[in-house]
Amino acid sequence: MSDPLATAVVRLHEAGIPDPHTEVRRLDALAREQGKELADLVARRATHEPFSHIAGHRAFWNHEFFVNADVLDPRPDTETLVEAALSLPFDTVLDLGTGSGCILFSILAERPSTTGTGTDISADALTVAQRNADHIGVADRMTLIKSDWFAEVEGHFDLITSNPPYITEAAYAELHPTVHRFEPRIALTPGGDGLNPYRVIAAQAADYLTSEGYVLVEIGFDQGDSVQAIFRAQGWRDVACIPDLNGKDRVIRAKAPQ
Ligand code: GLN
Repeated sequence: MSDPLATAVVRLHEAGIPDPHTEVRRLDALAREQGKELADLVARRATHEPFSHIAGHRAFWNHEFFVNADVLDPRPDTETLVEAALSLPFDTVLDLGTGSGCILFSILAERPSTTGTGTDISADALTVAQRNADHIGVADRMTLIKSDWFAEVEGHFDLITSNPPYITEAAYAELHPTVHRFEPRIALTPGGDGLNPYRVIAAQAADYLTSEGYVLVEIGFDQGDSVQAIFRAQGWRDVACIPDLNGKDRVIRAKAPQ
């Protein structure tokens, strides 16, 4: 390795960034691509700013999504929800708390005859989502609404998806600095026991679903039993837990109450 690269590796190692060699290789490629100085990008990464924010995008399912500090970074775990959605029949989909739009636009891109609505309480997140819809080419089949869960939503959908904030107040305090400092708190934790968004969805989603419609929500690995109980208590049918690729509980599927 030449000196600037070796210096960069030492800098990231000292900052506690895991696997600094790989990081420096990626940052070096990015510096060339963006016409920037490697040292400047390394200085940002040394503050634990996520690589995706420095690059400006992150890969999810079949696309690169623009990301910044206004949205949750798309995570591979959430592809479990996309896969589950694509195993169901639907023409219309509502994605609550859409953030970057990674769930909604991945689904719409795979099913050219479908249309979708994405909501978010954050106008800044919706700006990122709009940009992603334009980039992926699904903007003419989707609507974005600024809404606190269902507050501004109208109509009925065949499928409702959501990756809501679900980290408990206590666990949020323990998160890695990269997540804590650079990702929106509002997308990660609803406070308290982390389950309130599921209580809202289980109580209200039936009013926005067609009669045989489904809800799919992402959950934390230890929330499978609690979230299934929340849906069953509201009369949802065929409530099931779908594991992710690591075998951890990741998605709850529920069919509209009769
Ligand atoms: N899976 C994310 C994390 O653990 C949390 C995503 C969310 O709260 N929806 O960082």
